[in-house]
Amino acid sequence: MLELTDLHVEYEMEDGGSVKAVNGVSISLEEDKILGLIGESGSGKSTLAKAIIRLLAKNGHVPEGEIDYKGTDLTELSDRAFRKEMRWDEISMVPQNAMNGFDPVYTVGDQIVQAIRTHEDVSKADARERARELFEQLGIDPGRIDDYPHQFSGGMAQRAMIALALCLDPSLIIADEPTTALDVVIQDRILQTLRDLQTEFQSSIILITHDISVVSDICDDIAVMYGGRVVEHADVGTIIKEPRHPYTLGLRNAFPDIEEDDQDLISIPGTPPDLVDLEEGCGFAPRCPFATDECWDVTPEPTEYDDGHIVECHRADEQELLTEKAKQKET
Ligand code: ATP
Ligand code: MG
Repeated sequence: MLELTDLHVEYEMEDGGSVKAVNGVSISLEEDKILGLIGESGSGKSTLAKAIIRLLAKNGHVPEGEIDYKGTDLTELSDRAFRKEMRWDEISMVPQNAMNGFDPVYTVGDQIVQAIRTHEDVSKADARERARELFEQLGIDPGRIDDYPHQFSGGMAQRAMIALALCLDPSLIIADEPTTALDVVIQDRILQTLRDLQTEFQSSIILITHDISVVSDICDDIAVMYGGRVVEHADVGTIIKEPRHPYTLGLRNAFPDIEEDDQDLISIPGTPPDLVDLEEGCGFAPRCPFATDECWDVTPEPTEYDDGHIVECHRADEQELLTEKAKQKET
């Protein structure tokens, strides 16, 4: 249903330079699937999401690439057509900070009702009823639809934002870190709710997260982002059991202990690549324990291994050796 081809996103800076936040991403997402998008802070996850739903910051733009959604290249649509036909109707987003998704001066219910009525010809009463039902499904007391956003706790705002994202029954929902900053019990409940709603509404979800335990639980596929590129993409089992990219191998450390909080990816030493002055070579080479001269000099191309397992690494075909070495390093 969604296919990104060589997508680039840049942010212009005041000094004339530009941040290449997404730098040639090609991935696809099938219908009824949950795709986990993981990667450390600054790797371009939110930028990729916002480019799809066209909510980039003012200084951001898409200089190159295609976003094919059910056969339409979204980059070719006018803003007007996009707002009218795509956003909320077809593709919706739960932003990284849910509170920011609501306008503080209107009640949460009014905003959901307005979203529904902007796109569908229904009465106010019917729209309200739908909002109440969604609240109920998401475990919020429907009586609270007349509350203002600030009256909601973080977890409730997150759920209300999911209600807003679902109110027009979109085919694709992008949820950006929907559980960060929430306590573990609420996190689990929200994710379970997302999974249930995905089954019920038969929508696809792109779930952005730092938390590896999250993706392994509920996602079908995982795309690993590093320095503005997707460096590895496969089904969840493959990513966990047979990763080929050294960055993903490094993340594996975080898998066994899914009970522990703070499974951030920042445990891999070193700093991410400079996105303003991109250099030739693999962006991970400076942090990679397996980097060779080739890695420093030549940017790796995406290579497909068995069955949709795509990796950007010169040494990806030495999986067994690298896994063995990574294990030795751990002990
Ligand atoms: P996080 O996990 O912290 O949310 P992320 O993977 O979502 O990180 P992005 O927010 O997409 O990362 O940012 C990617 C890069 O683009 C970062 O280097 C960030 O500083 C930069 N960036 C984001 N927004 C802008 C902007 N409006 N102007 C300039 N640079 C930006
Ligand atoms: Mg982000």
